Amino acid sequence: MIVNLAFFFLLGIIFGSFLNSLIYRLHEKLPLGGRSFCVFCKKQLLKRDLIPLLSFLYLKAKCRFCREKISWQYFWVELIAGILFILVFLKYENLNLFLARDLFFILVLIFIFIYDLRFKLVLDQLVFPVLIIATLLNFILGFTWLDLLTGILIGGGFFALQYLSSKGRSIGLGDIKLGILLGGMFGWQMIILIILLAYLIGGIIAIILLINKKKNWGDFLPMGSFLAISAIIVLLYGELIWQFIYNL
Ligand SMILES: [Zn+2]
Repeated sequence: MIVNLAFFFLLGIIFGSFLNSLIYRLHEKLPLGGRSFCVFCKKQLLKRDLIPLLSFLYLKAKCRFCREKISWQYFWVELIAGILFILVFLKYENLNLFLARDLFFILVLIFIFIYDLRFKLVLDQLVFPVLIIATLLNFILGFTWLDLLTGILIGGGFFALQYLSSKGRSIGLGDIKLGILLGGMFGWQMIILIILLAYLIGGIIAIILLINKKKNWGDFLPMGSFLAISAIIVLLYGELIWQFIYNL
């Protein structure tokens, strides 16, 4: 068991490291291949500086060459991916296609969370390929087309209605695309839960920020990031949450 947990943690931090690089390269419109380099001085990183988590701590969050401060995002994304990979493994406790799908979904959701938080954007390059892969995987895993289509309609329709009623002020086109994507990834039952939970999380965070005077009413809040957090919770514990609701 310990070996399994260690394996999934390692796998998670390695993919987390890959995600950090992907986020940077997609945003800067750089080629996706090639060696990693410092974003400030552009010097190629040494092999020993590419170890997830450890290199960052050893270098005290600074570039080896130019000593510029490197964002803590690099560390946190790796660590959180590692922890979430363990939690997904614990959900199934054996190797199967469901596990592989959920690990893939976790990476997609971390990507969406960071990208919307930092750049206020949901990328088409991500949404459409993932939607196709996710619906195909789900179909293989026993979802019906009706289930997935209903999920897509609920997810997309919910945000499209808000987009129209607010004339695009509170909800962007990116949120509609994200609603469609999450509908295809999770099906109709879970997308409802994801939307409810996202508003709950968003509401709580908005109130905390307002009380601390960090934001004013009407300031932008990253809906995509709230949806991503909510989807991660539902991915891990959605069935338990539904059970809890039914028991009420
Ligand atoms: Zn540097």
